[in-house]
Amino acid sequence: MRSIRSLQEIIFPNRCLGCSALGLEICSSCRGNWHPHIYRTFSSWQPHFPIYSAVSYSAIAGKILLAAKENSLKVADELILQALKHSLRSCIQERGIGFLVPIPSRKSVARKRGRQFINELTLSLSQNSHLAYYENLTHIRKVQDQSSLDAKGRYANLDGSMRSLRYLSGRAILIDDLVTTGATLSEAARALRIQGIEVAAAVTACVAEPLR
Ligand SMILES: [Zn+2]
Repeated sequence: MRSIRSLQEIIFPNRCLGCSALGLEICSSCRGNWHPHIYRTFSSWQPHFPIYSAVSYSAIAGKILLAAKENSLKVADELILQALKHSLRSCIQERGIGFLVPIPSRKSVARKRGRQFINELTLSLSQNSHLAYYENLTHIRKVQDQSSLDAKGRYANLDGSMRSLRYLSGRAILIDDLVTTGATLSEAARALRIQGIEVAAAVTACVAEPLR
């Protein structure tokens, strides 16, 4: 899947990931929607740890995430990795180090895509930051599609849906592409806590306005 795509990138002229304009892989105007900043999300409710993000979610950011997830486009992966590196740097400065734990996709989704998207990015992040990387979470039951649910509905939908595979000493830093309500990150932290693992913080590429 990935190699076919890479071949297409060589054969066909580039179109902007954000607006489909011919030319660069991402045009300067769309690139402006992916300029890494520092966003810290502290929830008064859940999760009980700060979330560091780099890019405010927009329609263009959504297309970049989709291009990486659904089409494995290398240029989209690179943009997301750059955003994650940026968020991780501020996370470490403020919260100290920890080991990296990616939020995995469901197995059926990963099979369809031909890869575990966040795991691959987290591995690159680990090599870049010299922080250890552990695939330590798995999904243990089906959940409803989240898109129509509000924050409370999402928390209820995900509760008890993940499991941590083993105890690890030290603190975890969760890695994901996007945070909306924090329900997924909270569920991951709950599963890790059962194994005795504390989550220091989460790092995501994008942050969206939460649904209330
Ligand atoms: Zn564009």
